[in-house]
Order: sequence, then C-alpha cells, then structure tokens
Amino acid sequence: MQDQLVIYNTLTRSKEKFTPINKGMVGLYVCGPTVYNDVHLGNCRTFISFDMIYRYLLHLGFKVRYVRNITDAGHLEGDRDEGDDKFSKKAKLEQLEPMEIVQKYTLGFHDVMRQFNALPPSIEPTATGHICEQIEMVKQILANGYAYEADGTVYFDVEKYNKEFPYGQLTNRNLEDLIANTRELHGQDEKKGRLDFALWIKAKPEHLMRWPSPWGWGFPGWHIECSAMSSKYLGDTFDIHGGGMDLQATHHTNEIAQSQACNHKAPVNYWMHTNMLTVNGVRMSKTAGNGFLPGELFTGNHPLLEKGYSPMAVRFFMMQTHYRSTLDFSNEALQASEKGYARLLAAIKTLENLKPSDASGIFINDHKKACYDAMNDDFNTPILVAELFELVSVINSANIGKTPLTANDISILKELMHSFVFDVMGLKDEVANVADNKVLDGVMKIVLDIRKDIKARKDFAASDKLRDDLNKLNITIKDTKEAAVWSISQQ
Ligand code: AMP
Ligand code: ZN
Repeated sequence: MQDQLVIYNTLTRSKEKFTPINKGMVGLYVCGPTVYNDVHLGNCRTFISFDMIYRYLLHLGFKVRYVRNITDAGHLEGDRDEGDDKFSKKAKLEQLEPMEIVQKYTLGFHDVMRQFNALPPSIEPTATGHICEQIEMVKQILANGYAYEADGTVYFDVEKYNKEFPYGQLTNRNLEDLIANTRELHGQDEKKGRLDFALWIKAKPEHLMRWPSPWGWGFPGWHIECSAMSSKYLGDTFDIHGGGMDLQATHHTNEIAQSQACNHKAPVNYWMHTNMLTVNGVRMSKTAGNGFLPGELFTGNHPLLEKGYSPMAVRFFMMQTHYRSTLDFSNEALQASEKGYARLLAAIKTLENLKPSDASGIFINDHKKACYDAMNDDFNTPILVAELFELVSVINSANIGKTPLTANDISILKELMHSFVFDVMGLKDEVANVADNKVLDGVMKIVLDIRKDIKARKDFAASDKLRDDLNKLNITIKDTKEAAVWSISQQ
C-alpha cells in the first residue's frame, strides 16, 4: 500500500508517486505558528490538514519524524524585512516580557490543537532555542559567497544565487518578473538587490530580543530558522515540507535558496501547500479582522456565528474539502457538517449490533479499495467522505434487513470506519467522551441542585435562562417526576 501514495508537489506542479529517501523514517517539516497572537481558524485549517497527512502516513505504516516549529523570534511585520518585530511590539503593548508573550500563545496553541484532536509533532523546535544553528548557517552561506554584510546586517544575494539556481522556481516565476513586482524599499539602501533578504538583522539598542553574533548584536531573519531547524532534525535533504500557500512566494522560496546556498543540495523532495480558509471569499487573517478564534467558534460568541460548533464538527467540515482547495466558512456548511458527522457516528454504533447473514449484498473489497484510492490520490478526503457515506447507507440498509452482510463484511466495515474516521481523519466521538467525563457529571449535579433552588424560589426567568444557556452547549435538561436529568445531544 505504501508505494501507491501519490502527492501533489508544488515544486514540479504535478502529482508524483511518493518515494521516501528512507522508508524507515519519513521526514516531515511543517512551518508552525508565529506565537505573538492567538491562532485563528485559518491557521488551524493548515495544521489540521497536516495532522491528517501525518496520520495517513502513519496509517500506511511509515515511521515519520514530524517536525513543526514555533516561531518565537525574528518575524517582522512585513515579509521583506520591514516593520517592527511582532513579539517586541506585542510585549510593549501588553507590558510583558517577549518570552511571556511566547509562553502564553504557545500554551494557547497547544490547547487548541488538543481540542481539535491533532497529534503532537515528534519535535517542536523554537527559533530562540536554535540561535547558534542559525548563526552557523549564516556563516556558511557567507563563506560560500551567497551573502554579504552591511553594517551589522547580513543579506542574501538573490541575483548572485539566481545565476546558478532558479530562485523563483517554487512559484514558477523568473527573476525579472519578481523584481518588477517588488516595491523599492526605503531605508534599506545597504541592500544590493531589491529581492535580497536579511539572514541576520542588526538590533537597534531598544530592541528587546537580541543575541551576540560575529556581526554584532542582532536577531535572525524569519526564514533562516526553518532552514536551520529542518536540516538539523531531518537532514540536508528531506522528504516533505509543508505550510500554507501564502508562504510559497517568500518564506519557502527563501528557505530553498538558503539551504541550497549553505549545503549545495535541494532541501526538500516534496513541497506541499494547503489552501486558505476564507470568510465570504476573503482570506481569514489576523490583520483582516475576520479571523475568529477557535474558542469563539466553540461558544458561538462572535457576530458572524449563529451558534457554537464543536471541535469535531469543525474538523469534519474541514475534511469535506480537499486541502488544496479554498474552504469558505459558512454557518450553513458547519450545520450540515454537524448533521453529517452525527450520521457517521450513528452508523458506526449501528454497526456494532448488526447480525451477520450467510449471503453478502455488497462487494466489500471494492469499497475498501475506493477508500484507499481516495487517500492515495493526494490525500483526497472529500472523496473518502463520499465513500464513507456510501458505507453509511449500506449499514443503515443492513440494519433494516434490506442488504445482507456477512460476518466478514461487518468486520471489514468496522475496520474501515474506525481506521478512516478516527485514525486518519482524526475525529472522535465527543458525546461518548464527554458523557464518560466524571468531572462534568459532578459539575452538572451541582448545576441541577442550584436550578432546583432557583425553581423553589419561583424565579422561573432565571431557571429558564440556565436551561437555555446549557442548551447552547448542547446540554439538554429534562424534568422528570423524580428529578431533573441531563444529557448531551449532538445536533
Ligand atoms: P502564521 O502564524 O501567520 O505564521 O501562520 C501559521 C500557518 O497558518 C502558516 O502555514 C500559514 O500559511 C497558515 N495560514 C494563515 N492564514 C491562513 C488561512 N486563512 N487559511 C489557511 N491557512 C492559513
Ligand atoms: Zn517556516
């Protein structure tokens, strides 16, 4: 099965059979978040897509070293060495140390990833933890003649590099085009070429995050961290490098140039890029003001949201679109996903109680092949989901005695549903997990006691409000003769 996987490679703009350098350990590097702010749902889409890709590689039996970094230094506001350092700016604004900002948003990011049931990466290196490696890499690029120093800042010489290697290959652009489309930058006269970018940046005296280097006190450029950390943990050439599409033109283009200039090798065999999450057709971003946070989505506490949606409903919503297509957010689509996911879970439960027949009314191996064919075709989750819904129809039809299934059919159906729904798409049964939760059970006993007191005082407005608020969280209260009981519904 491993040799049937085909991946779309941004570098060659074609689908290619996946042939890892070393079958014993696939190297996967994904650009992680810049932790000066909360991650929004768009960022989550990219990380959840790569979580699905990581999960499928594991499912196919590959051992994977999955590296996803944390950018905690060096990312300026503009992509081309302009503006303030994002961390220093936020630290000044919130009157905190830059590392307090980093700590706060790293913990928040981990929490969100856990809620979305994303597996942790094998290594999560930080830019500030790899300053030495970045300095060494800059030194090597200088020694190899592809960079120059100007007043404490080291720039990558793009024109010189482009004489030997195609600088714009990742986005299929030539240098003249790129230069024509780049603004002249003011205040950076020491740059030789308009496209040259900083590998190391001289720190002004007031700059908060800075380190000593052969070129004086400074801090690394944004792109060098990923080149330094990916080669440290995965080697000078590794299998897969991923990130959002918005990183192609600058961040990843510069990563390729840096690594090639340092190690004389192309760093990555397969470049993979996820498409953007949009709201009414506009890319969700921190600056556009349309980026709602996962927490807001779960509670429904945002003007664009009609109600709250559970993490698994959101994850399933994402799986229904291919990772290379744009995904437009809408309440209708999310509500349809909630319903679809509930149908899928219900069928998995029905499967547990199906009685086997002697005859078979389906070709189970064709269904199994269709699931694998979908995922082997560049991780096509929407086709997989369509196939899984075919299986839901089969299960429901078997349940009312219309389609006979043998014991073997049922066992393969169970294997397919569990593998693809839970292991590969990374979904879980939230209702079962929450209902099993002893803490929630205890809290609900307290809430129901309080409600009983409120009702005894005949404050019906307050008791109705309590019931409605719980309803918004999908918790239903029913008054029986003996006592009030609660349950969680998945709409
Ligand atoms: P950042 O923290 O801004 O560096 O972004 C972290 C990751 O999220 C990068 O891989 C971005 O490409 C990705 N990203 C940013 N905005 C979106 C979006 N609207 N949809 C999908 N991915 C995004
Ligand atoms: Zn990166």
